[in-house]
Amino acid sequence: MPHRIKTIGLSLPFRLGSVNCYLIETDDGFVLIDTGGSNKRADLLRELKGAGCKPGNLNLIVLTHGDFDHIGNCAFLREKFGTRAAMHIDDGGMVERGDMFYNRESGNALLRRMAPILFRFAKSDRFKPDQYLEEGDDLSGYGLDARVLHLAGHSKGSIGILTAGGDLFCGDLLENRDKPGLGSIMDDLAAAMASVEKLRGSDIHTVYPGHGSSFAWELFMRNHQESDP
Ligand SMILES: [Zn+2]
Repeated sequence: MPHRIKTIGLSLPFRLGSVNCYLIETDDGFVLIDTGGSNKRADLLRELKGAGCKPGNLNLIVLTHGDFDHIGNCAFLREKFGTRAAMHIDDGGMVERGDMFYNRESGNALLRRMAPILFRFAKSDRFKPDQYLEEGDDLSGYGLDARVLHLAGHSKGSIGILTAGGDLFCGDLLENRDKPGLGSIMDDLAAAMASVEKLRGSDIHTVYPGHGSSFAWELFMRNHQESDP
């Protein structure tokens, strides 16, 4: 089950940088990992169309976590493409309630109210996932030879998708803003470190982060060990 990965980078409002969606083409159609922010919906649609992804061949949308910059177009795409949305149950309340701070330790009242405005997340963008993913779940039923890793840290329900070929879609656990490293915003640092430990035992070649370009896992490990106290 070979696959092709197309990175779709979408800029975020208010100079918040950009976010990546990953469109994976398999023998059986497409799987989309994350959907970006709603501010760049037209760009995302254009990219999907250009890649040949259309209603009927998008088998699944996988969300690495529930933040608005990753789930902003999910409800819209699900409806338009007639597909399914899958994520970890621990972040489910974020997308159902439109509250990025649901089930998180941090986040004050002001941020809670501001986040939907900042990310232009409307009430109509809320949704209930069709499927909840857990550690070890196999995505080959959707044409993708990959399994789910529960990678808590950035949020409780953060997940990674690891393909049989060693491609890891890590959400915001790891990022590559100036160099590969741990994500800059962690809800639970101890959980994030445990998630990295778990990854250490996996067969990873290339990492595809939510923010920044892809990088070699080895490069991250080198940086990570150097920055360890
Ligand atoms: Zn993010």
